[in-house]
Amino acid sequence: MAEPEVVDVVVVGLGVGGEEVAGRLAEAGLSVVGIERDLVGGECPYWGCIPSKMMIRAANAIAEARRVDGLAGTAQVQPDWAPVAKRIREEATDNWDDRVAVERFTGRGGRFVRGDARLDGPGRVRVGEQVFQARHGIVFGTGTKPSVPPIDGLAGTPYWTNHQATEVAELPESLLVLGGGAIGLELAQVFVRFGVRVTVVEALDRVLAIEEPEASEVAAAALRADGVQIHTGVKAERVSHDGQGFTLHGSGGTEFTAERLLVVTGRRAHLEELGLDTVGLDAKQRFLPVDDRLRVTDGIWAVGDVTGEGAFTHIAMYQAAIVIADVLDHARHAHGTPDPSGTANMVGGAMGAASEASVPRADYRALPRVTFTDPEVGAVGLTEHQARQRGINVQIGFTKLGTSSRGWIHQVGDDGFIKLVADANTGVLVGATSVGPAGGEVLSGLVVAVHAAVPVIQLRRMIYAYPTFHRAIEDALRSLK
Ligand SMILES: Cc1cc2nc3c(=O)[nH]c(=O)nc-3n(C[C@H](O)[C@H](O)[C@H](O)COP(=O)(O)OP(=O)(O)OC[C@H]3O[C@@H](n4cnc5c(N)ncnc54)[C@H](O)[C@@H]3O)c2cc1C
Repeated sequence: MAEPEVVDVVVVGLGVGGEEVAGRLAEAGLSVVGIERDLVGGECPYWGCIPSKMMIRAANAIAEARRVDGLAGTAQVQPDWAPVAKRIREEATDNWDDRVAVERFTGRGGRFVRGDARLDGPGRVRVGEQVFQARHGIVFGTGTKPSVPPIDGLAGTPYWTNHQATEVAELPESLLVLGGGAIGLELAQVFVRFGVRVTVVEALDRVLAIEEPEASEVAAAALRADGVQIHTGVKAERVSHDGQGFTLHGSGGTEFTAERLLVVTGRRAHLEELGLDTVGLDAKQRFLPVDDRLRVTDGIWAVGDVTGEGAFTHIAMYQAAIVIADVLDHARHAHGTPDPSGTANMVGGAMGAASEASVPRADYRALPRVTFTDPEVGAVGLTEHQARQRGINVQIGFTKLGTSSRGWIHQVGDDGFIKLVADANTGVLVGATSVGPAGGEVLSGLVVAVHAAVPVIQLRRMIYAYPTFHRAIEDALRSLK
C-alpha cells in the first residue's frame, strides 16, 4: 500500500463550493490538495446556472421581440438556436474543458489531482493509488447528481438530464419534461420559445410546488401562454423508446409522446461513493448532515449541495466562507499560535480574532431562491404554509404587480405579485415572494428585511423610488393583515 502523503487539507470535489474552499485555503498558505473527477467548477458553469441563464437570456429576447406588437409597432422574430449553442460552447464552457479553472486553482497555490476520491480511514483520502493524510481536515464538496426515478423502462433509454439539455446543438421537434420544479420550468420555457413542442409532466398537484401556490399559478399560466402543455398530478408509470421518440405512460391512463425526454425530478448526493463507512459515518443518508460550522464530524467538513441545505450556488459560496474560517481557526489552534500563516484576516475579515467565536455560523432564515422563468419567481424565507406550520401568528400582505404604476406602464408581460409573510408577534417579515419581470432583483430588498429582521413599521416608513417594480412592496406592506 502506498505511503500516505501528509498535507494540511484535502478537498474532495471542486465544484463551486469545493473550489472556493480549496483555493482560499491555499492562498492562506496551507498545503491543499484539491481532487476533482470531472470538471473543476462543477455543475454551475458547465451544465447549470451559467449555460441555463444564457439560454434564458436568449429566449427572453425572443419573447420581448414578440411583445413589440401593440407596444411599439411590429416585429418578426426568427428564433435560431445556433448562436445560443455557440455561446454556451465557446464562452461559458470552453467546449466543456476546465484547463482555465485548473490553472486558476493551481495559480492560487493549490495542488490539483484529477480522479475519484474516497475516504480511506480517519484523516485519509485515497484517489487511485495515491493516499493523502490530512493534518487539519478533509472537506467534501461533492455536490449532487440528477435523481432519476425508477420508472419502468426508463433506464437504458437515451433520456436527457440537464447535461444533454445544455449541450444540445440542434433542437428536437418535441420535448417531454418530467418534473415541474425550477429547472424543469426554466428549460421548458426556453425550448418552447425556440419552437420546440414542450410538455411538462409533474406528479404533484402544482408546478413549483415548494413555492407559494400563487407563484405556481402565475408560472404555469406564463408557460401555457408560451405554448407549453402542463399536466400536474400525473405520476410517470412507464417509459418506452422506439428509436425515434419516447412514450411516457402516466397515471390515470395518460400517455405523452415526444422526440426527447428530459428528466429533471430532483438531485441526489451519492454518499455511497465517498468511503464514509471507513470513519463510521452513515452512507445511506440522502445528504451529509452538518452543524452550523459545516462540520460533519471531527476533522471533516462539507460544503454545497451535498449538505442538503439548498441546491444553490449562493449557498455553496456562503457555506464556503464559513468552512474556510473554521478550518483556518482549527489550523491556528493546532499550531498553538494565534496565526501561523499570518493570514488571519484573509477570510472576509472573519478571522480577525483567533478564537472559535469569530467563526460565523450558518443561518438559513433568509435563504433567497429565484426561478428564472419569465416572469421570475423570487422567494426568501418561509412560505405562508411553512410559517403557519411553525405556529407563527401569520399576517399576509399581497399585491398584484399590474396594479402598481410600473406594472401598469409595463403592460404586456407584467404578470406578478408581491406576497409578504409577517410574524404579527414580532412585527417582522419571515418570508416573501416577488414574482414579476424583475422578480429576482426586487427580491433583494425583501432578503435584507428578512435577514436583518427589519421591523415592518420601519419598512412602511421607507421611501420607495417611483415608478419601480419594487415600489409594489409598499402596497403589499399596506395590505398586511
Ligand atoms: C440546470 C441547473 C440550473 C441551475 N441554476 C442555478 C441558478 O440559477 N442559481 C443557483 O444558485 N444555482 C443553480 N443551480 C444549482 C447549482 O449549480 C449548484 O447548487 C452548485 O453547482 C452546487 O455546487 P457544489 O460545489 O455543491 O457542487 P457541484 O457543482 O455539483 O460540484 C461537485 C463536484 O464534485 C465532484 N465530485 C463528486 N464526487 C467526487 C469524488 N468522489 N471525487 C472527486 N470529485 C468528485 C463532481 O465531479 C463535481 O464537479 C442550477 C443547477 C442546475 C442543474
